[in-house]
Amino acid sequence: MRIEKIALNGFRNYEWDTAEFAPGTNVISGQNAQGKTNLLEAVYMLSCGRSFRTRFDRELVGFGYSEAQILADVYSHDRAQTIDMRMRPGMTKRILVNGVKKTGAELAETVNVVLFCPDDLNLIKEGAAVRRRLMDNAISQIRPRYGEILSQFNRLYEHKTRILKDWREKPSLLDTLDEFSDGMCRASAQLIRYRASFAARLNEAAPPIQREFSGEGEELSLAYKTVSTVRDVYAQAREIYYDICEHQEAHRQAELESGQCLTGAHKDDLEIEINGRPARSFASQGQTRTAALSLKLAEREIFLAETGEYPILLLDDVLSELDSKRQEFVLNRIGGGQTLITCCEDAEISSRTGGRVLFVEKGRIR
Ligand code: ATP
Ligand code: MG
Repeated sequence: MRIEKIALNGFRNYEWDTAEFAPGTNVISGQNAQGKTNLLEAVYMLSCGRSFRTRFDRELVGFGYSEAQILADVYSHDRAQTIDMRMRPGMTKRILVNGVKKTGAELAETVNVVLFCPDDLNLIKEGAAVRRRLMDNAISQIRPRYGEILSQFNRLYEHKTRILKDWREKPSLLDTLDEFSDGMCRASAQLIRYRASFAARLNEAAPPIQREFSGEGEELSLAYKTVSTVRDVYAQAREIYYDICEHQEAHRQAELESGQCLTGAHKDDLEIEINGRPARSFASQGQTRTAALSLKLAEREIFLAETGEYPILLLDDVLSELDSKRQEFVLNRIGGGQTLITCCEDAEISSRTGGRVLFVEKGRIR
């Protein structure tokens, strides 16, 4: 899967310009605030119709423009395809794939990407929510059923939280509490099975990447953590469900007192260790970046195994803080598939890649 050409019209700081990409590595080079991330953002949007930086289309439309357009030629599922996306503030996006109207979600049938942006460093250093999001995003792209269960779970969670917050003022709410708890236990059991097997695959794919990336020195390991009473995360959903119910029963009173849901997959985590120590507390900046990137590259391998094609890899600002050995890995040794990497011109990095270099200056691509 690859993007061959993109045209941007009134998108962010691009008035009108086109870029052609090589099938392998593409370095997008330029000084700060010239439009490098904007270009990656446009490519990202081709995979889902949304930006990774904003929820608001109006921010994507160039200052002084009434509409933004992204046109792209991509090659995926063994054929050339075209995507035409138009955004106008206050209107729904219009997306055409090969001239046929599609929703943002349906774009995943045509283009898939794996993105690494500076926010992803939080994967290592921040709380569990970011790591759950990594699992949720990746699994729902591969298994649409997972996305359905997850939204169902989230609805139950919100409902139950409201009951636990408001039951003192309105005791009749308690009539339905156990029903919601049961629903959450059931949905959790299913989510846990999916997450456990995804985490296991990640734990197979990520450590060899980290090893090569770091020059053999670093051993990455991942451990999936869920409700403490679950004995076997790979068991049948029914067994997992019974185990979770045990936890739920033991915590019912505490939930009423604390006003919080204490049982369920919303507290899951993916613990990350480097050389046997929790990365969250001990990883250096370079290690943090390397580990986060290894996870993303592992996600790409899982995607390949599932779909037979590498997704397009988008790396925003990944090179800073990496030593030259690790930079060389990013620039020249991420094999297979297409990669788009942004970097600052000053770093003179562009000369060290065998791939194509695109220079971006004031919304123009050379
Ligand atoms: P850095 O190296 O600092 O990350 P960059 O090249 O990635 O820089 P971008 O994030 O792509 O920079 O932004 C380039 C410019 O686009 C910024 O100056 C920003 O203010 C401008 N910009 C953002 N949104 C719009 C918009 N809707 N219309 C016009 N310009 C915009
Ligand atoms: Mg940028």
